[in-house]
Amino acid sequence: MSPNNWLGLAGKNAVVTGAGGGIGRGIALELAREGATIMVIDLDESGAHETVAMIEQATGAKAMHFACDTADAKQIAAAAGVLRSEVGPADVLVNNAGIIGRGTLMDTSLDDWQRVIDVNLTGYLLCAREFGRDMLERRSGSVVNVSSICGVHPNPQAGAYSPSKAAVSMLSRQLAVEWARHGVRSNAVAPGLIWTPLSDASYSDPSIKKAREGLVPMGTIGMPADIANAAAWLASPRSGYVTGQEIVVDGGLDQALLGLLSTASN
Ligand code: NAD
Repeated sequence: MSPNNWLGLAGKNAVVTGAGGGIGRGIALELAREGATIMVIDLDESGAHETVAMIEQATGAKAMHFACDTADAKQIAAAAGVLRSEVGPADVLVNNAGIIGRGTLMDTSLDDWQRVIDVNLTGYLLCAREFGRDMLERRSGSVVNVSSICGVHPNPQAGAYSPSKAAVSMLSRQLAVEWARHGVRSNAVAPGLIWTPLSDASYSDPSIKKAREGLVPMGTIGMPADIANAAAWLASPRSGYVTGQEIVVDGGLDQALLGLLSTASN
């Protein structure tokens, strides 16, 4: 825990979905370092178990895992029941579990389209409603939704991914407006290019990594900790008057379009 509990997260209960690896694991570890008790939710039971072991070893914080599909309402209700009975209701929910699509919109099968929408969008709604119910009752809580710069910039060849992430941004803002009077906040973090198991195939190839780094004004690919730092602030009472906002964490990539003009004229 940070020595003076600056973020005010010590003793809070935080649920992080998709925390069996990648960005979610980074967020879970950061919240645990700040003294929160963590529930790791992931489809991948061994990844979830590993995150809990890492939390216990690195931080000494209390952590538990629940293996389930965030797109399944019954399983999420069961996860919330376990959290309530073991440590109490959630103070923080980080909606992070996500998958990418493949191929153009024309080539995407309806099954693939539906699965991406189910996990990336409906899963966020289900978790927000299930864990948010207790927050609304207690008039206190923070929901952090991991969106993507792909929600603003279409990602060709990624199927329903960009449409799903655009919808996550609006889901986050609508929850913010609906829940603000009930003391519950909702914000989003939009990552740029981040090195995780999802993107490892690209970044483990040095030539692709170098080419992509060249596109980022800050010159590096982000790491899960970069997203975790923003998510922890949004989760915490330190952002207590912030709701309905989205923080882009991308080393400036989102702002780089017109900078390409100088490359084109050289
Ligand atoms: P990842 O694949 O490394 O990790 C995602 C985790 O979610 C995995 O552990 C996976 O098992 C879990 N998961 C997937 N579907 C699930 C489901 N239905 N129920 C429960 N768990 C499920 O991915 P990541 O790169 O860490 O991405 C995390 C989030 O960040 C996603 O929402 C993704 O869209 C977003 N994001 C990632 C990047 C990037 O460059 N890596 C960029 C922008 C946004």
